[in-house]
Amino acid sequence: MTDYEHYEAIVVGAGPGGAAAAATLANYGIETLVLERGVEAGSKNVSGGLIYAEESSPYTIDNLFPGFREEAAERPVTDYRIHNIAGTKVESFDLTRLHEHDTEWCDAVLRRKMDSWLEDRVHERARETGGGVLTGVRVNGLLREDGEIIGVTMDELDPITADVIIAADGVNSEIARDAGLMDWEDPSEWFQGVKAVVDMPHDVIAERFDIDDDEGVAHLFSGDLFEDVRGGGFLYTNEDTLSIGTVFHLDSLVAERAEPHELLDALLTHPLLADWLGDDYHELEYSAKLVPDSKKVALREPHAGRLMVVGDAAGQMQAQGPIIKGMNHAVTAGALAAEAYAQAKSRNDPEGAGELYAKKLRDNGVMRKLRPRGYDTLRGLTENESVTETVDSVLTSFVGRAAIRGLSGQLERLYNTPALSALIPDTRTPYVTLPTVIGEELGVQIRETSNVTPPTLEARIGELRYDTDIGSPHIELLDNSYDVSGAAVTACPVSAVGFGGGCYRDEVIKTNGSEEHVVSLDTQPCVECGTCAIVAKTKWTHPRGGKGVDFTEG
Ligand SMILES: Cc1cc2nc3c(=O)[nH]c(=O)nc-3n(C[C@H](O)[C@H](O)[C@H](O)COP(=O)(O)OP(=O)(O)OC[C@H]3O[C@@H](n4cnc5c(N)ncnc54)[C@H](O)[C@@H]3O)c2cc1C
Ligand code: SF4
Repeated sequence: MTDYEHYEAIVVGAGPGGAAAAATLANYGIETLVLERGVEAGSKNVSGGLIYAEESSPYTIDNLFPGFREEAAERPVTDYRIHNIAGTKVESFDLTRLHEHDTEWCDAVLRRKMDSWLEDRVHERARETGGGVLTGVRVNGLLREDGEIIGVTMDELDPITADVIIAADGVNSEIARDAGLMDWEDPSEWFQGVKAVVDMPHDVIAERFDIDDDEGVAHLFSGDLFEDVRGGGFLYTNEDTLSIGTVFHLDSLVAERAEPHELLDALLTHPLLADWLGDDYHELEYSAKLVPDSKKVALREPHAGRLMVVGDAAGQMQAQGPIIKGMNHAVTAGALAAEAYAQAKSRNDPEGAGELYAKKLRDNGVMRKLRPRGYDTLRGLTENESVTETVDSVLTSFVGRAAIRGLSGQLERLYNTPALSALIPDTRTPYVTLPTVIGEELGVQIRETSNVTPPTLEARIGELRYDTDIGSPHIELLDNSYDVSGAAVTACPVSAVGFGGGCYRDEVIKTNGSEEHVVSLDTQPCVECGTCAIVAKTKWTHPRGGKGVDFTEG
């Protein structure tokens, strides 16, 4: 075998999972090289994003990186509400108790600022071990010898070998797929998140949201404003911006042929947001990314040989009812994987690191959160279509409505029950039917009028920064028939039916009296969300290192 450059540890990806893994490895004095495809950490990353420090977690971001909250975060979340919307009627519940359950603290973050801050600290510590962080490098596969994983291959560099590889390369992990641990087959296992970062001066945020410097708010939205698509919206306050977005089950987006940017616009222009957004709406950035549903895809054994997989790459993104917890679990898993390797090595059993890591995920209660007991058992019943039909028809009947009115004093308490929120079925009942009935029966009429005009898709794409790899598209469309790949035209967040400027378009080609409905792909406006890897037949890869979209907010 060729003599390749060797490091004791390679970490792929410098998001929260990779940063936690690398810092922990470095704390153990292990020579660590971090490979990140973005021009800077954070330039490829998108979150809502509230980062939690859970009381029950063995590792939190501020334990690993002192100063994190003061220097890398935006605002603490001190008020947490959900709004049940039916047309222009809204019933709001205070969810602060659910939000504070097992929570030491929770801050809003923007990923470019947060991840680049982490990158600097990781680089400093990893350099002391003989390693460091290399940006602009895309790992494109695993290096194997006699079938065993021994390193990674890259677009930009020669292969590098390592004693341990921690893949923290996010939701579209090419490494987890190369190792056979993940696939891109089933839309019901994923959410799609779409987000707008909105410019708003600090003092305007203080006035419109009635908060001080050390306070922040989180608003969640569900009900009929997204038609029948299962999911919801969020609004979080940052220092001098707002993060507003939507997260929907991907299978539901596809089934409804919904346009993600239009669903976001439905939220932005709802009268409930009118006073908060005022008449000076200025969007700084539009972005999107897939999100795994840990209840369905979190790997029980996230390892293969000397490879361990952490964070979104291992499906470790928990939707705890309306609360989204991915970054904190990526941090915990990254640190536990690093700790497992250090301990296995000290017992002269480095090959045992993967199993020890999986055991640590179980022993520390992480797997119980990611794959709650009872969800799989109940799923057969609660996610059964005819049960959903029955529950929805009862809820929308005279009797169901009377029950909702009768329960009006109890509903907020029920919404704040952690055990219930962990088991919410993936059906339209909790996302659409129940909140809509609550809004209709108990809601207050909103009288404000929205003055928000969201940018067009063309303007949103035009505002994004790209370093496109002309002549080297990173996604290949393997089947261009509309039947197989047509869902991408609507589900791709930068494409739309009738919009000529996005990634996917459809057209009907007439030849010799026959018609063919086909789609075509132009990857230049791609925001690298991963959606079309699942909903179309593609050969999907990330762009080469440093290429593609360059998010400035995230
Ligand atoms: C709209 C939206 C809202 C969300 N809201 C929240 C929230 O409020 N709270 C929360 O906790 N989570 C939220 N999440 C989920 C959260 O963003 C993820 O769970 C989290 O980022 C996972 O961290 P990670 O380190 O595993 O992966 P990532 O943060 O995705 O980092 C992966 C890193 O790997 C790099 N990389 C990828 N492939 C390669 C490669 N081949 N070679 C080199 N580098 C590579 C990427 O550039 C990136 O830096 C949200 C997600 C979205 C999309
Ligand atoms: S082309 Fe695919 S990966 Fe790119 S933005 Fe559209 S759906 Fe997402």
